[in-house]
Amino acid sequence: MNRRQTVPPQQKYTVTDFAREFPTDDACLEWVMEKRFPGGMALCVTCKLERKHYRVSGRTSYACRACGSHLYPLAGTIFHKSTTSLLTWFLVIRLMSSTRVGVSAKQIQRETGVTYKTAWRMMKQIRTLMGDEGKLSGPVEMDEAYFGGSDSNKVQHLRGKAKTPVMGIVERHGKGRVIPRVLPDASKHSILPVVGEVLSPRTMIYADSSKTLEQVRWMGQSHKLATVNHSETYVDGYAHTNTIDGFWSLVKRGITGVYYQVGLGYLQSYLNEYAFRYNRRHVMRPMFRQLAERTVIQVCPCARESRLALRG
Ligand SMILES: [Zn+2]
Repeated sequence: MNRRQTVPPQQKYTVTDFAREFPTDDACLEWVMEKRFPGGMALCVTCKLERKHYRVSGRTSYACRACGSHLYPLAGTIFHKSTTSLLTWFLVIRLMSSTRVGVSAKQIQRETGVTYKTAWRMMKQIRTLMGDEGKLSGPVEMDEAYFGGSDSNKVQHLRGKAKTPVMGIVERHGKGRVIPRVLPDASKHSILPVVGEVLSPRTMIYADSSKTLEQVRWMGQSHKLATVNHSETYVDGYAHTNTIDGFWSLVKRGITGVYYQVGLGYLQSYLNEYAFRYNRRHVMRPMFRQLAERTVIQVCPCARESRLALRG
């Protein structure tokens, strides 16, 4: 860990900043409304026109200025139908985005006062917003790690024995983004579709010399593979996997230190959480804003929900 690192001013978002911007549930609701419908302008299903909507006191809705039809800005978001206050949701989003190695449900429970079960559910919902997007650009490093079992430090010796393989691909340059994927097994039939989905053709891949990774050669001319044999040397010119190894150590430190044990069914969402923060570490905007904005960008595409949002 780089302990000299200081947070650039553009990335800072302190407890005071949060308290000033989101003092109440109403402030959170207004933020969601403004993000989804700037200026309160939204299509009214009754008027069939863009109309200014005003807050209805005591409810989470806004009413059309002409006909009074209600609009629910929370519909389709992770906040919809939740009995937990909006302010608590925002607090949890802040806590989850303010740490590199993650925050436990237990800590969320302590800091917000919700039950452990509620904290766990909220975190699960927030993680659904953290899935990654887009292809990576080369050169990349590719490596596998194994999760599960009692001691994650023993992964190298226990490969294939009740461990879940995870493929990680990370950009060497540019934004240095990572995409981790849980695999059903470490065969080429599981690895190759991920490689095809995450990388453009002819991307330069650096990988270690483990057997499964060499199977990427099977893709022929599409990808180049430069291997480094970890048993001989860790760094051989450009052929090393230090970048992806750094990501794995971050994840493993978090999973053993913060989450203790991760159910394998949830491993992908935990990995997404780590990748989300890792991929945005150089973005000059507070991590909290980047995550909070996802709650309104990734609105449920379900048509029924959208209609509900408009009808109220
Ligand atoms: Zn109207």
